[in-house]
Amino acid sequence: MKRRYALRFSPTLVEQPIVSKLVRIYDVDINILNADVASGRGGKLIVELSGSSEAIQESVSYLNEIGIGVSEMVKELIFQDDACIHCGACTAVCSPRALRLGKDATLLFDAALCVVCGLCVQACPLRLFSVSDERGA
Ligand code: SF4
Ligand code: SF4
Repeated sequence: MKRRYALRFSPTLVEQPIVSKLVRIYDVDINILNADVASGRGGKLIVELSGSSEAIQESVSYLNEIGIGVSEMVKELIFQDDACIHCGACTAVCSPRALRLGKDATLLFDAALCVVCGLCVQACPLRLFSVSDERGA
């Protein structure tokens, strides 16, 4: 199974090798989708954990125990791509680069990179994006 989480770090936790410890001890794969972490000021990671249900639950418990704020991301971005006119306006607000223009100037959407921040919802002049509370499998 896969689950996405937002992890919030205090400044004292930024220096610790938390991600490698999760992989070694709890047998989960971690895909970092977005990172905003700097020494001295804490930070935030958006990660996707892959593994058994038990391994993911144990990983989340461990993160909570050491003081990392863990929020599961249960929302999903819905994109009506068939009506897109490839204007590119949404790409300017998408920092994880889930939305970008390809070499032929057509919009490319990589759902795996989307952190469901919702910024593209307002950015699209045709209102082709919406955010649902449903979680994908
Ligand atoms: S919600 Fe939109 S702007 Fe935010 S990461 Fe996903 S595609 Fe990019
Ligand atoms: S802003 Fe809307 S119409 Fe323009 S490229 Fe993005 S999805 Fe397509």
